[in-house]
Amino acid sequence: MDVKLVLLPGDGIGPEIVAEARRVLEAVATRFGHAFTFEEHLMGGCAIDATGDPLPPETLAACQASDGVLLGAVGGPKWDDPTAKTRPEKGLLAIRKEMGLFANLRPITSFPEMLDASPLKREIVEGVDVLFLRELTGGIYFGESGTGERDGHELAYSTMVYDESEIVRIVRLAATAAMGRGKKLTSVDKANVLECSRLWRRVTEKVVKEEFPEVTLEHVLVDAMAMHLISRPKDFDVVVTGNMFGDILTDEASMLPGSLGMLPSASLGSSGPGLYEPIHGSAPDIAGKGVANPLATILAAAMLLRHSLHLEEEATAVEAAVRAVVAAGHRTADVAAGGASIGTAEMGEKVLEALAA
Ligand code: NAD
Repeated sequence: MDVKLVLLPGDGIGPEIVAEARRVLEAVATRFGHAFTFEEHLMGGCAIDATGDPLPPETLAACQASDGVLLGAVGGPKWDDPTAKTRPEKGLLAIRKEMGLFANLRPITSFPEMLDASPLKREIVEGVDVLFLRELTGGIYFGESGTGERDGHELAYSTMVYDESEIVRIVRLAATAAMGRGKKLTSVDKANVLECSRLWRRVTEKVVKEEFPEVTLEHVLVDAMAMHLISRPKDFDVVVTGNMFGDILTDEASMLPGSLGMLPSASLGSSGPGLYEPIHGSAPDIAGKGVANPLATILAAAMLLRHSLHLEEEATAVEAAVRAVVAAGHRTADVAAGGASIGTAEMGEKVLEALAA
């Protein structure tokens, strides 16, 4: 398979962790007989420094012409000035919008050897394996908003809007994912209050009933879901929800395994390349020290293999290598709980060894 991949290392620890993920992808290509070519482009703070634009047009064009995009992280104190003309995060919103990435997938899996890193009790997090699908380009973050005045008081409003087509496409993706897993789909909304959620519920019912009769569908209100996620997270298989509810719930869920450095995510559209990244930020406090955990980015590369290149065996091999490394007790400082730790490159090396084994 001939594949063109774009790497966007970004800022802070981004270049260090993306370098390790690249080595893993190169090893996958060699082992499985594929030809992967890599192009690196600027995005985020480094792109602002070089061009004044967090997402330069040539970066976007390269991403759109690729088979998949792997992003490190963007941002850092250097670009935090609220009065600045532009910010690194603007690049993130722009790339999602321009590439039509309407679905954010976040698998939340606990590692048996790291259960004590979780703020929750072992028996609650042991065996957690949930896939979240968050709608990414609609809802209240994109609805009409504004400010004004009412009875002499300042006023502001943000509106939540979804049309049927936006709900159909994310529910289809979620139900398809459920078919490949436990065939259980949980849709989260606030249908007891919001009209938008009532439409979400009706459309979800229809899509699942007509197109995915084997999938068991349940509806859960977002407030209840916030509780269930920390009291019985093992009961969930695939969860689908709108933009704002997904934003909040996926951050809550990311605490279940106890380490940001282990969790990948994918943003997908209806067609075209997907964007893959770790869920953590650019960790400026440890940038350049060679101690960052590269495993979330390596797992994001595995998601790229699975969702954009449809190389399931290769994706599973990378995930198995990461699990083997963790099971063998290798830890970067963030997950070492004060014990012995190894650096970013050494962790990458361990994954390569496990992949070759
Ligand atoms: P962060 O995720 O960068 O860091 C939070 C803490 O986790 C820090 O102590 C950091 O050292 C640690 N950490 C994160 N990833 C790690 C890794 N791979 N290995 C070891 N330790 C790790 O969050 P923050 O400090 O709130 O944000 C820093 C910058 O990143 C900000 O500019 C923020 O806007 C940006 N950010 C970017 C993205 C993105 O690019 N998608 C996401 C979140 C935050």
